[in-house]
Amino acid sequence: MTAVSLRAETVDLLQRLIRVDTVNPPGNETAAAELLREYLEENDVECELYARVPERANLVARIRGSGDGPRLALLSHTDTVLADPQEWQLDPWSGELKDDEVWGRGALDMKGQVAASAVAVASLAREGFRPNGDLIFLAAADEEVGAGYGLQWLAEAHPEAVRAEYALNEGGGDRVDFGGGPLYVCASAEKMSAPFRLRILGRSGHASMPGIADNALVKAARIIELIAAYEPEQRYGPETEALMRELTGGELPPVEEAVERARRAHPLAAAALEPLLSLTMAPTMISASQKRNVVPAVCELTVDRRLPPGQSVEEAEAVVRALIPNDVDYEYEIMEAHGGTRSPLDTPLWEAVDSFVQEIEPGARTVPLCVAGFTDSHWVRDAFGTVAYGFFPIRTMDVELATRLVHSADERAHVEDLELGVDFLRHAARFVGALS
Ligand SMILES: [Zn+2]
Repeated sequence: MTAVSLRAETVDLLQRLIRVDTVNPPGNETAAAELLREYLEENDVECELYARVPERANLVARIRGSGDGPRLALLSHTDTVLADPQEWQLDPWSGELKDDEVWGRGALDMKGQVAASAVAVASLAREGFRPNGDLIFLAAADEEVGAGYGLQWLAEAHPEAVRAEYALNEGGGDRVDFGGGPLYVCASAEKMSAPFRLRILGRSGHASMPGIADNALVKAARIIELIAAYEPEQRYGPETEALMRELTGGELPPVEEAVERARRAHPLAAAALEPLLSLTMAPTMISASQKRNVVPAVCELTVDRRLPPGQSVEEAEAVVRALIPNDVDYEYEIMEAHGGTRSPLDTPLWEAVDSFVQEIEPGARTVPLCVAGFTDSHWVRDAFGTVAYGFFPIRTMDVELATRLVHSADERAHVEDLELGVDFLRHAARFVGALS
């Protein structure tokens, strides 16, 4: 490979990745995995594809460690959510470079980080970098849907390919300033997704004589109101406590005052903090009678629910049951329970992140964040006890804009941020690679 700047190399690889349509479903991530393999093998990085079905491959690349130091995995996913070209100013699969921004579906979530990780590993390999423990680059399939082709499957079927003591992934890295100086958020935990279904029971009847029936839909309306009005008990976790102390200059107010105190610092700080202090419940789907003139005997209500790490599904179920009036007949069913893991904060990987932050912006603070959504970090924390953080620094693009563009129209990444991301990943690889 000729000497081009790492920035240009990353932009070029990202453009090529965006042009490979990996909208999930159906995914077709093998095309992206092959592209990455070709790029990495040109740089003498060993690669292996692992696929449950041929069209949905995961790529694992590796610089072997010279000793038995801890392994660092750079995690990423190659699939994207869909894009409606009608809503976009540019073709979502063009990968066009315009005003120093690379446009396209996945630019932020997360082909930008895929490209930066690949370039970090390739450039280190070219320089003859030999860490003490393996440096692993993993570009997984199927993160956005999670139908069992991606990291969850890989950790079960090929644990030796992905086992690592440390991992860096998506989910954090944004630079925010809530008035007390710049902060870089590092995602060290995530909430559990534990949606549930209520089947509210009544008695059917002809809708022309509603008095003879017991309308399950009307009963459900009451319950929806109760769920919406519920004010959950708030608790600090290690991440929210650390964030709160940053916002107040060290003080930890009683948890009931936390959101208000955060709001005084910045409305965004309050918006970020509030869902992390407790479980959240949002009724999202409902179905009842299939016929206009039949009073429904059953109304099925689906509620999205997220639990902070450490809260059990049993405890959350008790909350729901206590909300429903005694005179209502219903069935409760938990639909799934996944995620909800956290990594400790007192680790060498934290030092790797924080020392980078100090390098690029002396005096800036690194703060932990529990993310409200789900990332693949969960699977390695769960399977191997990996210390996994979401960190990919973004400081040139405004954080509110970046947040808005993820999964939305006109998604794009700034080349300065991509270059910063490569710098960070190289820094982290060197830092962890020096540990014994
Ligand atoms: Zn993602």
